[in-house]
Amino acid sequence: MASALTEKLTRLVKEMRGQARITEANVQDMLREVRMALLEADVALPVVRDFIARVKDKALGQEVLGSLKPGQALVGIVNKELAATMGDGVADINLAAQPPAVILMAGLQGAGKTTTTAKLAKHLIEKRKKKVLTVSGDVYRPAAIEQLKTVTKQAGAEWFPSTPDQKPRDIATAALDHARRHYFDVLLVDTAGRLAIDEVLMQEIQDLHAVLRPVETLFVVDAMQGQDAVNTARAFKEALPLTGIVLTKLDGDSRGGAALSVRSVTGAPIKFAGVSEKIDGLEVFDAERHAGRILGMGDIVALVEQVSAGVDMEAAQKLAAKVKSGDGFDLNDFLGQLQQMKQMGGLSSLMDKLPSELTAKAGAVDMDRAERDVRRKEGIICSMTAQERRKPELIKATRKKRIADGAGVQVQEVNRLLKEFEQMQGMMKKMKGGGLMKMMKKMGG
Ligand code: GDP
Repeated sequence: MASALTEKLTRLVKEMRGQARITEANVQDMLREVRMALLEADVALPVVRDFIARVKDKALGQEVLGSLKPGQALVGIVNKELAATMGDGVADINLAAQPPAVILMAGLQGAGKTTTTAKLAKHLIEKRKKKVLTVSGDVYRPAAIEQLKTVTKQAGAEWFPSTPDQKPRDIATAALDHARRHYFDVLLVDTAGRLAIDEVLMQEIQDLHAVLRPVETLFVVDAMQGQDAVNTARAFKEALPLTGIVLTKLDGDSRGGAALSVRSVTGAPIKFAGVSEKIDGLEVFDAERHAGRILGMGDIVALVEQVSAGVDMEAAQKLAAKVKSGDGFDLNDFLGQLQQMKQMGGLSSLMDKLPSELTAKAGAVDMDRAERDVRRKEGIICSMTAQERRKPELIKATRKKRIADGAGVQVQEVNRLLKEFEQMQGMMKKMKGGGLMKMMKKMGG
């Protein structure tokens, strides 16, 4: 997916070369690709429309600075606007209330509420030195109450018991009273899961809100939900005054478009991102970094680099010959590509050459990340045997595990790399017959 975007943008950047300004004519094609990229990242259509309109407004007529070509400048504008849409600075949790500060967790069943409650407890204990109590208002699933008990223990927080025969309101009142009397700084309230929007349960969480008067009402949403996240977010926003969002499962395959949709629909800041099932898998949300993820920044950076530094024509020629002769494109070639990118002086050194308008603080972080990413990928391929590199289809579960252990990464990361490789392979196949050479020549010269 990311490779396809790169391919398209490559063509467009090339076409826009030599033009001094961003104009209605040259911006149109580029925006179409950005629009596709956002839709592929699962951003909801109305949100995409608004976004594109804003970018167009900002981009039109803007002088292209220094050595930047209009295409590259537009990528910069898109990236900045994405980050601005998803957040304005770091939004940490608000605890400014008469203790205990109550945090109410809302969201669909399976979104990750219980897990996030415990992660948040750990975060508040370790980073904010708070005394934290958790309680479950999920009277429909005794297992959910038990689950909260278990994870609360792991977090090193205290858990307030509740039982399925109680009313959620009564649980809330009792927990609040206990928290007050025992001088807890924070009370985290987990709520009943909803498989879909459900009137009764919505009423129940509204009641809880009225009783608890939380300083934070966090909407927990699964990043893998994609397009559906919009409807869920809208329903919760209508029912509750949301103060923040937690986007979970960002470690999965999703490109995280839900972040943009949910933020746009609710207007609430995204405060945290869930990045693993483990209790420490919670990160303060970083909008700029996430913008890069949505657009596949790593690929765009590589593209910018190729355009400005030129490509190793000899290696490209060899690769083209190989594709043509039908040998196929294997993981050794993929590794070769990664190494070639490094040889060109590294991504961050390239960014130093670009005007600060594009590389502003945020960009620099992305570069570091992209570079680390390349190194990790190299590490993964280097942990494979020669046979596996030639025949990636051999790599099944046990081999994946071995490779992941060897490279010191999670199996998911191996999966991601294999997927990326497959996409690249698909692109190479399409380019059979000289297409690749032509493309590289145009980019380099
Ligand atoms: P709840 O029904 O909203 O309380 O959801 P749970 O907290 O029970 O989470 C549902 C599933 O998602 C569990 O298997 C969790 O381990 C998993 N989960 C939650 N957050 C994350 C995350 O950030 N990353 C991953 N990979 N899994 C998560």
